[in-house]
Amino acid sequence: MFIIQIASECAPVAKVGGLADVVYGLSRELEIRGHAVEIILPKYDCLRYDRIWGLQVVFQDLWVPWEGGAIHTSVWFGFVEGRKCFFIDPHSAHNFFNRGMLYGHGDDDRRFAFFCRAALEFMLRARKHPEIIHVHDWQTALAPVLLYEIYAGLGMVHPRVCFTLHNVRHQGVTAPHLLHAVGLHRPEHFMHPDRLRDDFHHGALNLMKGGIVYSNFVTTVSPRYAHEIRFTAQGCGLGHVLHVHQAKFGGVLNGVDYDVWNPEIDSHIPRRYGPTDLDGKYENKAALRRRVWLQDRFCPIVAYIGRLDHQKGVPLIRHALHWCVNHGAQFVLLGSAANSALHHEFLELKRAINDNPDSHLELAHDEELAHLIYAGADLLIVPSLFEPCGLTQMIAMKYGTLPIVREVGGLADTVFDVDYSDRPSEIRNGYVFKTFDNGGIESALVRAVGLWNHYPGRFREVMLQAMKWDYSWNEPGRHYLNIYEYIRDK
Ligand code: ADP
Repeated sequence: MFIIQIASECAPVAKVGGLADVVYGLSRELEIRGHAVEIILPKYDCLRYDRIWGLQVVFQDLWVPWEGGAIHTSVWFGFVEGRKCFFIDPHSAHNFFNRGMLYGHGDDDRRFAFFCRAALEFMLRARKHPEIIHVHDWQTALAPVLLYEIYAGLGMVHPRVCFTLHNVRHQGVTAPHLLHAVGLHRPEHFMHPDRLRDDFHHGALNLMKGGIVYSNFVTTVSPRYAHEIRFTAQGCGLGHVLHVHQAKFGGVLNGVDYDVWNPEIDSHIPRRYGPTDLDGKYENKAALRRRVWLQDRFCPIVAYIGRLDHQKGVPLIRHALHWCVNHGAQFVLLGSAANSALHHEFLELKRAINDNPDSHLELAHDEELAHLIYAGADLLIVPSLFEPCGLTQMIAMKYGTLPIVREVGGLADTVFDVDYSDRPSEIRNGYVFKTFDNGGIESALVRAVGLWNHYPGRFREVMLQAMKWDYSWNEPGRHYLNIYEYIRDK
């Protein structure tokens, strides 16, 4: 099968969060299974150009319709860790992708609407005929709308579209004049409640809703989240449209790329190890302490890795930090905040605990340090308010670092409590708490740190159980192929 992914992120060249890992990891899995995959991305100025091989212009003069005129655009091609990637590079005063950051600009809706139009125009002009177009989140949700409303009429009648919702908190709700800019000229048609009109702000356009309506299949990144966004407030207003389109909607758990995240072959950590050689982990623990200036003593290291966003349970992360340093454990945080208030909040916290030899906050995006933390820590917290899937808990398990998670979304689908799960004791793999408050996370921390201190043999057993879980792309890859085949043959 020929599959084109259109996305705003792809690891490791354009990564903000898990979306990047999914686009890369799924593409790789599909190729391993013998399918042809191409990825279309914006050519951001902040791409990791050192990770792109053979970058060159392959389409010089693409004229992308925009605001009644057209923007002169080039398309580049390069390999990203073996994946075939095309990069959209518009030449206009809008400077859409030369902003130093992927997101967070006032005109993000226009930047990504342009990207969708450019991706389809490129496919048309380059005569690409994929069987499947896979799009991700609101940024690329206009692609199926444009495909059916414009490009099908220009001959692109074969591609079927799969749309994956990675986080429905961000839906691309915007003013309707975006429609005109992108070339969809019948506002009364598109602003219909059955199409792109937002269900709550009736004067607004909802791009994610449009993607749901126009795609042949819609997935989200875990079965639990699929349920939560249909039936609870976590749907952020999309419950109704997901209900209407339930026959083409389902949850597929994300996978982890074990070529990147595997302590047996990880080149970023000082000592490789695996289930048969668990002692190797302790060298990494010592290296982590040296790297982040923690004192060397006999105690567990609790870590947090992730975006610093309200979604991730900021008050609970703070509480865990204080609890750890007051109860004989050490705490390491690696995170970056797009929100400047949150960034300053953590900067303050960092200053306040600067001299404490049992904690360290690294406020940055640092791929290499992330590897060392997964390898060197004993426990990793994911106390999210909501979590569509979550990758850090699955990566941590592969490194024998036990996750402590809130029972929500994909966290509930992947972590089974050592003490309370209804799964057999020999496959339990971490700690789970329910309530979103200090007492909730503390109850799990007490149990986890207690096991480390008082029952090291059992702690080690659970580490091995966690390492044995297979959260690779194998199973999700199969699911996605079933979906692709189903919509292709329908
Ligand atoms: P989300 O998609 O909500 O950001 P996920 O858990 O799905 O969260 O994915 C997070 C991914 O980003 C993981 O691969 C994690 O290791 C990585 N990551 C998050 N923050 C950082 C950071 N500050 N430095 C390095 N890697 C990070």
